[in-house]
Amino acid sequence: MNIIVQKFGGTSVGTKELREKVARKVIDTKKTGKYPVVVVSAIGRNGAPYATDTLINFANAAFKEYDSRELDMIMACGEMISTVILSNTIKSMGYKGIALTGYQAGIITDERYGDAEVLKVDPSNILDLLRQDYIPVVTGFQGATEKGDITTLGRGGSDTSAAILGEALKASVVEIYTDVDGVMTADPRLVAEAKVIDHIGYDEIYQMAEDGAKVVHPRAVAIAKRGSIPLKVKNTLSDAPGTIIHHKGTCNNKYSKNVSKEDILTAIAHKNNINQVSVYFEDSVELNELLMNELTNNQISIDLINFFIDKKVFTIESKDIEKVEKILKKNGFHYHIIRDCSKITAIGNAMRGIPGVMAKIVKSLSKENIRILQTSDSHNTISCLVSDRDTQKAVNALHKEFNLSK
Ligand code: ADP
Ligand code: ASP
Ligand code: MG
Repeated sequence: MNIIVQKFGGTSVGTKELREKVARKVIDTKKTGKYPVVVVSAIGRNGAPYATDTLINFANAAFKEYDSRELDMIMACGEMISTVILSNTIKSMGYKGIALTGYQAGIITDERYGDAEVLKVDPSNILDLLRQDYIPVVTGFQGATEKGDITTLGRGGSDTSAAILGEALKASVVEIYTDVDGVMTADPRLVAEAKVIDHIGYDEIYQMAEDGAKVVHPRAVAIAKRGSIPLKVKNTLSDAPGTIIHHKGTCNNKYSKNVSKEDILTAIAHKNNINQVSVYFEDSVELNELLMNELTNNQISIDLINFFIDKKVFTIESKDIEKVEKILKKNGFHYHIIRDCSKITAIGNAMRGIPGVMAKIVKSLSKENIRILQTSDSHNTISCLVSDRDTQKAVNALHKEFNLSK
C-alpha cells in the first residue's frame, strides 16, 4: 500500500474555494492508486474565528485561570472543525472522506498538556479505513493520553502529527502544504529575493526550524529523519515543485548536490521576542548553582549562554520575562534586561572549517549600522542577537552578503 500523508496548514483551508482545491489535490493523489492520509490544521491565522490563537484569546478572556488540560480541549476545537469541513468537502466530490480525532488516529501522548510528546501510534484504525477505500482526514496538533484526555502537541504541531503518522504508516512521503513555494533561503515576508531551496538535508532544516523558520516544525523534521521518510514542503496554491527534505547525500542521487565554496550558507533564519538577561556577580559556585537551579525548576529555557567572571549573560523568550524577573528579585541578584531583541542565524553545513564567515557577518551588519549585542556559534550556525527593529535589515544584509538569491 503506497501511503502518502498530506498535511494542509491553516491558511490552505481558509475558504470554500481553497478547501475544494485541497480536496481535489487529495482526490488526484487517490486517483493515481496511492492512499492519501490527510492532516489538517485549524482554519486561518489569529483573528479567524476558529484559529488556535483566537481560541486561546477566547479562553484568556473567559477565565482568569484554567487547567492546562482544559485549555487543550479548547485549542483542539479548531482542528476538529477543519477535519469535519474538509472530509465533507471530499465527500461532496464523490469520495469517502472521514474525519478522525488524534485519539481515533491512534496518537497516544504523555500528559504534558500544551506540548505533549507522542509515546506511540497505533495505525490500525487508519489502515482499516484505507483498506475500505476511505480517505482519513486527521486533526493536526492533537493526540490523547492513554486515558483518552485530549492533548496538543505544541504550537505548529500539525507538522508533527503528519510526520508521526507518516512514520507509523510507513508512508512513502509526507507532504507539507503551506502558503509559500517551499523552504526558502529566508522568510519571504522579510526578504523579497528569498529563493526556494529545492532540496535540503534533515539536519540543516532542523537547525533552521529551531532558529525560527516556522515553515516546518523541528519535531516533525526529527521524526521524519528517525523514520527516514522524505518530507516535501509545497505550496497549496501553485504547482511549484517545492522542497524535498531527506538524508542529503545518502538519498537518491538526483537529490544530491556538491557543495562549492560559494555555497557556504544555506539560509538565514530569525527569531523575534528574545530578551537578553545579564546577571552581575563575582564568580561563585553557590551563586551559579542557585541561578541555574531556579531557572531549571521554573522550566525556563535559556539560550545564547555566555558566562564571564563578573557576569552571566543569556537570552530568554518574552513569555518568561515576568518569571525570570521574579526569580532574580527574590534572590537579590543585580541584573539588566535588554528587551525586544531578535536572534538572526546564518545556517550552513558547509561553513564548518571555512575561515572568514564571521568576519563577513560582522562586516555586513556593521555596514548597516546594526549593533551586535551577542553572538554564538556551532558547527553549522552563527547567531547574532540584534535589536528587534533591525531584524529585517539584518536578515536582508546577510542574505545579500552571502549571495543567497543567486
Ligand atoms: P502553516 O499554517 O501552513 O503551517 P506556517 O505559518 O506555520 O504555515 O509556516 C509558513 C510560513 O513560514 C510562511 O508563510 C513564511 O512566512 C514562514 N517562513 C519563515 N521562514 C521561512 C523559510 N525559510 N522558508 C519559507 N517560509 C518561511
Ligand atoms: N493550529 C495549531 C497552531 O496554530 C497547529 C498548527 O497550525 O500546526 O499552533
Ligand atoms: Mg506551521
